[in-house]
Amino acid sequence: MNFGYHGKILYVDLTHKKFSEQKPTEIEYRRYGSGSVMAVTKLLQETPADIDAFDPEAYLMFFNGILGGHQAPGLARFTITGKSPATGGIGEARCEGPFAMALKRSGYDGIIFRGKSEQPVMLLIENQIPQLISAEELWGQKVSDTVEKIKADYPDSSIATIGPAGENKVRFANIICDQNHQASRAGMGAVMGSKNLKAVVITGGHVPEVYAPNQLEEISRNFTKKMQENVLSMWQYDRPGFGAWIHTHGIDAALCVNNYQTNECDYTDQYTPEKFAEFYKGESPCPYCPNNCIKRYATASDNEFMGGLHQEALGSLGPNIGNSDLAKIIKANVLCNEYGMDPNSLGFTISFAQEAKQNEALDESMLSGINLNFGPDVDIEKLTEMIAKRQDLGDILAEGAARAAEIIGNDSREYAMTVKGNELVSTECRSQTNLALGYATAAVGPRYDICEHDWDYDTEVGWEHTMNYSRTLGILERIPMHYSGPEKVNDYKVLNNLWSAVDALGMCIFASAPTRVYSLAEMADLFHQVTGFETSSYEIMRLGELKNHLFRLYNYREGFSKEDDKLPDRFFEQEINAGALAGKKLDREQFESNIELYYEMMGWDESGCPRKVTIYDYGVDWAAGILDGIN
Ligand code: SF4
Repeated sequence: MNFGYHGKILYVDLTHKKFSEQKPTEIEYRRYGSGSVMAVTKLLQETPADIDAFDPEAYLMFFNGILGGHQAPGLARFTITGKSPATGGIGEARCEGPFAMALKRSGYDGIIFRGKSEQPVMLLIENQIPQLISAEELWGQKVSDTVEKIKADYPDSSIATIGPAGENKVRFANIICDQNHQASRAGMGAVMGSKNLKAVVITGGHVPEVYAPNQLEEISRNFTKKMQENVLSMWQYDRPGFGAWIHTHGIDAALCVNNYQTNECDYTDQYTPEKFAEFYKGESPCPYCPNNCIKRYATASDNEFMGGLHQEALGSLGPNIGNSDLAKIIKANVLCNEYGMDPNSLGFTISFAQEAKQNEALDESMLSGINLNFGPDVDIEKLTEMIAKRQDLGDILAEGAARAAEIIGNDSREYAMTVKGNELVSTECRSQTNLALGYATAAVGPRYDICEHDWDYDTEVGWEHTMNYSRTLGILERIPMHYSGPEKVNDYKVLNNLWSAVDALGMCIFASAPTRVYSLAEMADLFHQVTGFETSSYEIMRLGELKNHLFRLYNYREGFSKEDDKLPDRFFEQEINAGALAGKKLDREQFESNIELYYEMMGWDESGCPRKVTIYDYGVDWAAGILDGIN
């Protein structure tokens, strides 16, 4: 008997409206841990290279990691994986919240959609029985209206749905889960829209039996105590929650202002916790987790149940577009939840357009009368709607900043702050060199949580407790956040592999080492208590490394190389101009050397592709065959 997982994957053929099942072996569950690692094996083994992300034969995959969705703190996570329409490489959207639990109750460890329905449909899994239902009356509806209509028939269901942005294939459309939880950062909502799949609805069912339920309960009891002793976990717990980053380490590390043109910001007093209080509407809890990270914020004219605010939204829709008006940021975030769009990519696509306009690369005649100036008067609400509905200039911006620059021309490419075609994030990387390395080399494109931030390790301002778990990872000393060199590369490799493993298992990085509650050893304990497998920290870390290898291999198969691991020139040519790290910028030669060193440390060749010896080392011999096919 297997513990912790169902032992089967559901395939949904949307073209022919047929279901089938696949039963991975125990070795496959052990090797891949289910989740996004198992998902990328399906992409590599079952989908052809070079197909468009919107090709009907492209896969869209909802997977629980093997721990994800079980009833303990920090396990309310799942992933949506496929080919990203933003980058053309691997797309991975991770999401917290109740849907992770529902997916675990569905009777399947993963759901793979292929094909394309002729008419809009939704997948309903009721008491572990799947069926496709017409969603024609839901098509065109915002997320809140979609949820309301579905809940009328299935009141206890958990719902992952796209909004109009996904239907219109906005390349940074996301999937909104249970109204407030965003599966963002890879355009997976657009892939869902391309398949005419409006929603995935799960009700009833049960989680698979776990190996040691009593010990799992004990871990849960200890979690709350440890959480209360952890200053960073409590920063997540206390209001305003994730939205508060500008008033913590944002300022120490320098702020992204006006599309990274400057770091000067004389209005940070507009983002204080006290200012947030006016808009607070409650929590959007993750089941079985006491950390309550996701808070809801809305203005008086918004649907308060659509206000889930995540880290980075404030930065990208605030200082990044010159917007000091907190109410406008909060409203734009609610609109992102309603239309189903990544607020981070939205912010950086708008800031691209603002800078293009500032430099007259964008003709006034294209603006449709909207205000595109940096500042609080920018027409963010109108722009958000235009992009979601692909109206006028919005149709161009719906392609994302990099593609929009190609369309607009006039040398506007330099204003697109993107890597691999994916928009950057607003956590400054000239001051945090591990983040710089991560933004450049991550197969999925830039993510603010690609690794624990350099700030946390800084000799001056890092958290006191940072080193406790870090020493168990071999990180023995603090390093200034802006320092760049081999020691930092080594730290990045470890920290990125760690969170890669956390993601692969279906755990939450906001509950895990190096700075939150679970230590690496406790992650291994959890894995054992859920599955019954004898395991170790070594096996957990290897899983994270394997995820990185297979993600990079997928990108390589799709034509990526070292040329795609590039940051915008601005970070090398322009110094930080405000704050404690004013005068810092990235050194191009050192940065290139860091990338090459990182490839070597990971066992990748000079193009950034896993070497054959690495493939064999991680026991995925079938992947070496793919490498042979390419070479
Ligand atoms: S740590 Fe926060 S985001 Fe993660 S599962 Fe718990 S409440 Fe959700």
